[in-house]
Amino acid sequence: MTIGIIGAMEEEIKNILEDMNVIKTTNALGLDFYLGSLSNSSNSIVLVRSGIGKVNAALCAQVLIDLFAVDAVINVGVAGAIDKNIKIGDIVISKDAIQHDFDTSALGDEPGYISRMDTSVFVADERLVDIAKEVVEEIGFPVYEGRIASGDQFVSDPSVKDRIARLFNPMCCEMEGAAIAHACYLNKVPFVIIRAISDNAEEGSDVNYERFFRESAVTAGRIIKNMIAKI
Ligand code: SAH
Repeated sequence: MTIGIIGAMEEEIKNILEDMNVIKTTNALGLDFYLGSLSNSSNSIVLVRSGIGKVNAALCAQVLIDLFAVDAVINVGVAGAIDKNIKIGDIVISKDAIQHDFDTSALGDEPGYISRMDTSVFVADERLVDIAKEVVEEIGFPVYEGRIASGDQFVSDPSVKDRIARLFNPMCCEMEGAAIAHACYLNKVPFVIIRAISDNAEEGSDVNYERFFRESAVTAGRIIKNMIAKI
């Protein structure tokens, strides 16, 4: 199998890249797509840093699918916790993903509803989710599987967090996952999003993010590396 792995930032792909045997690097959209493998698996991997936000993430996923015909896509990174039980450093596995900033409610639509599409909730691949759960358990972390809400904003305002919690009830929020999920859905490619919590998406989340995102990115990368061996 060929598995595409997307992180938004260098820090989110660095520790996977360090362990990769890269055989070819292809540049597209100004991004480096690293093709290679990990020593624990015969699977091929294409690892890429998409840049931050939904448009960068969706474009990157499309290139990954078009140029490398990947069989599955894993999105790795950090996120702000929305669910009250989830702490900094914990791992969230996507059950599904939604875009919390998609809003035509002024016209009577539900918030998050993507007009004229048959779904706005993109469901992650069950097998990839199960593998992620197994790895998270093995490492000794609590398993949090649920919705991931994505939007083009860093959430640090309690009222914004409350709105997202009330409308979408996600485990965490970030800025790329649902865009990658959306691209995968349209291309019929299985996906899963794995996020390590860097902050609580409320007051002080800017400070916490700066303090914890590197460490959380390493944790998320570790999950991905162990997953690759089981896919
Ligand atoms: N200037 C900063 C911007 C980071 S944006 C930088 O370059 O480091 C935050 C990134 O982490 C995004 O990729 C997003 O997916 C994730 N993230 C972590 N906490 C978040 C939060 N509270 N709200 C939204 N995204 C968050």
